[in-house]
Amino acid sequence: MRRSNSIAVKTPSATRNASRVPAVPVSLKGTPIQVSAEKSQPPKTQRPQRNHGELIQGLSKEMVRFRRALLGWYDQNRRDLPWRRTRDPYAIWLSEIMLQQTRVAAVLEHYRIFLERFPNVAALAAASEDAVLAAWSGLGYYRRARMLHQCAREIVGRNGGRFPENSEALQELPGIGRYTAAAIASIAFAEPVAVVDGNVERVLHRITGSNLTARQCWERAEELLSKSRPGDFNQAMMELGATVCLPREPRCLVCPVRQSCVTQGETQRQKTSLRQKRREIWCALERRDGRVRLVKRPKKASLMAGMWELPQWTELPHTSASEAHWRTFRHSITVTDYRVHVLRDWKVKGCLPARGEWVAIDKIPQLPITGLTRKVLKAGGII
Ligand code: SF4
Repeated sequence: MRRSNSIAVKTPSATRNASRVPAVPVSLKGTPIQVSAEKSQPPKTQRPQRNHGELIQGLSKEMVRFRRALLGWYDQNRRDLPWRRTRDPYAIWLSEIMLQQTRVAAVLEHYRIFLERFPNVAALAAASEDAVLAAWSGLGYYRRARMLHQCAREIVGRNGGRFPENSEALQELPGIGRYTAAAIASIAFAEPVAVVDGNVERVLHRITGSNLTARQCWERAEELLSKSRPGDFNQAMMELGATVCLPREPRCLVCPVRQSCVTQGETQRQKTSLRQKRREIWCALERRDGRVRLVKRPKKASLMAGMWELPQWTELPHTSASEAHWRTFRHSITVTDYRVHVLRDWKVKGCLPARGEWVAIDKIPQLPITGLTRKVLKAGGII
């Protein structure tokens, strides 16, 4: 059952209408609260009426209660993540880029290794692109790594290695959009700017009971933001979406803001994401004298350009190749789920055309290899 909207705020539109009515409070859903109607048609009963000032004060109290509940919950329940133990804009920026379209669990180890290899923006700017891609290997979406590298060079070249300290200036850097700029500025520099990512969007849709547009989401997030703890508030909203207000089954019974939530989970289920495509590929793992045969992807490839991988085929390369079948792996790249059949070593000879170059195994850690190749080489005990 739907509850009435118990959080309400004064929005910019209310301010714009100030000449007509002193202040028109609107709910988070965006609908005006019927105060002016009550003015023009006096109530039939003599119930005492609250004036605007009292009403606005009441609404502010709701906002304060919402922030307090959310921040109190966050203080007690937040996950202990490495990027939450620092105010270093470089480390925060790196975590934000790595976390785009990637799960926290997948990022943790890469984050640690990447920071060890490139502990600050100057070290990252001074590295070669291959070294950066090698450290990124396994995280996917390699364009992020290239943009990160490019951005580091710009920060060093233009700003002497200092990060701009506000979201507007941050957005002028390559690869830093509104979300990332707001995340860095609020967490590292305490600038009172809100963030909206997929998690925050979902929370806002549910607490308002409204299908907000992207612009409305940003407006609502700004209105809700705690100005005294913007970084924590932003992380709390994202944490709520990631751990409580889950896409399929929101955990409303343990939700710290359920008193303020219009829907309490009674919304239409989110449309499931586009169906993944399925494909099968074959690749060869050939090892000889401390070397492995690898192929470099074309520089202009749309995915993973310039990276190294095992030789691959989209069809079984030769009927006798099935005898060389070693293992089958599952691997996802963007919207495609692959079943990867790996053929191994000497049995492959004669049934696969030779491709690629022999690469010394001890050189592989310095090479940008694809995530799939890393997976197979690890499974084979090679790296
Ligand atoms: S009460 Fe339920 S739907 Fe509302 S914000 Fe909390 S978890 Fe999400």
